[in-house]
Amino acid sequence: MELELVTIGNELLLGFTLDTNTAELATALNAVGVRLVRSTTVADTPDAIRDAVRDALARTGFVVTTGGLGPTRDDVTKKVVADLFGAPLDLDAEYLEELRKRFERLGRGPMSEKNRSQAEIPRGAVALQNPRGTAPGVWLEGPPGVVVMLPGVPHEMRGLLETELVPRLVRRMAGSDTTVTRSRLLRTTGIAESSLADELEGVDERIAPVTLAYLPSLEGVDLRLTAWHMAAAAADAALEDAVQAILPLLGRRYYAEADGDLAAVVLDGLGRAGHRLATAESCTGGLLGERITAIGGSSAVYVGGVVAYANEVKGGVLEVSPDILERHGAVSEEVARAMARGVAERLGVSAAMAVTGVAGPGGGTPDKPVGTVYVAARLGDADRVVRLGLSGDRDAVRRRSAQAALDLLRGLLARSVGAEDPGLAG
Ligand code: AMP
Ligand code: MG
Repeated sequence: MELELVTIGNELLLGFTLDTNTAELATALNAVGVRLVRSTTVADTPDAIRDAVRDALARTGFVVTTGGLGPTRDDVTKKVVADLFGAPLDLDAEYLEELRKRFERLGRGPMSEKNRSQAEIPRGAVALQNPRGTAPGVWLEGPPGVVVMLPGVPHEMRGLLETELVPRLVRRMAGSDTTVTRSRLLRTTGIAESSLADELEGVDERIAPVTLAYLPSLEGVDLRLTAWHMAAAAADAALEDAVQAILPLLGRRYYAEADGDLAAVVLDGLGRAGHRLATAESCTGGLLGERITAIGGSSAVYVGGVVAYANEVKGGVLEVSPDILERHGAVSEEVARAMARGVAERLGVSAAMAVTGVAGPGGGTPDKPVGTVYVAARLGDADRVVRLGLSGDRDAVRRRSAQAALDLLRGLLARSVGAEDPGLAG
């Protein structure tokens, strides 16, 4: 089964709103065997919407739209599509009453007459209940084909996608030989895309027909494995085989699957080993603490941190000796190590991370150019410090530093529990 998507909204074309609906629809549809063959983005104008939907119907006979179902003047999708089908808009009195009640229940005061249009449904169409918002989705089927109109607001779109669109599509395809396109994502960090590709030399042939894509970001390189147009069970089995072929090659560069976070992996490991954690941050200014506290349940392991930006704080609070600061400078291996030890001692914990570096754009020297960062990890009496030469702007240097600190502690932790640790740098 094939369909086309038309996303509607001036804000998408202006670039102020990122078109996340296309991405979400594409992954959800492919996973159940519906092939998204084209996606078009158009302005909120009747002409643009009419042309895009008409052309898409002519090609595939099945179109999903998002956006333009709201109560304001620029929300014209329903009217335009109904016209294409020659269907008048009928007022659904029952739904209008329900809307009124909902406004009262939520204490939003009397419903605006503008919302009236949201109770209008093209004749012959099915209204798709949208408990997350006021605009129902619309499933309209007729001689031109099928058009399913979904709201633009992402969480409303997602709700209707899961509860209405996907189940209806699956039912429609039942009995036919459907194939699905499914993916798995393996996350790595601490290795450049090109080096990773060297490590994985020849793997493409071994995992075929599953394909491998490299997705580099500031946190590392994600590997997306995709099984295309296969029966669901065969796709899952092929993906599992591919994962098993690749994982040993990744060694400890691999840290999680899907959207797993390195901070969560580290917290989990520390928790299991009975450690508590503190952070000392200079150039990351709390970013490491942010990464950690973003993980639910982090309070079981993380006690807190010190943002030690100025030397007075490195010395006064973390007890980094003036002598070390003077001799080696604030951005140095010795200071990073002393910061980690200092915060562990001051906060009475057995695990710590510290970061000190030159995030730029100013402050670089020939010895320590912008992007020079020392990250330290401490676990019990063991510690490790790594000097990084990071590329990118201030934001990139800071984010890469936080990730590298987490990865260093993960390596130390792996060693302490006896796991093999071939990739540990420093
Ligand atoms: P609309 O239903 O067109 O009034 O859209 C309501 C809101 O949903 C817009 O203001 C956007 O913030 C958001 N939105 C619309 N289309 C998309 C899209 N394709 N991806 C992400 N957000 C969207
Ligand atoms: Mg709109």
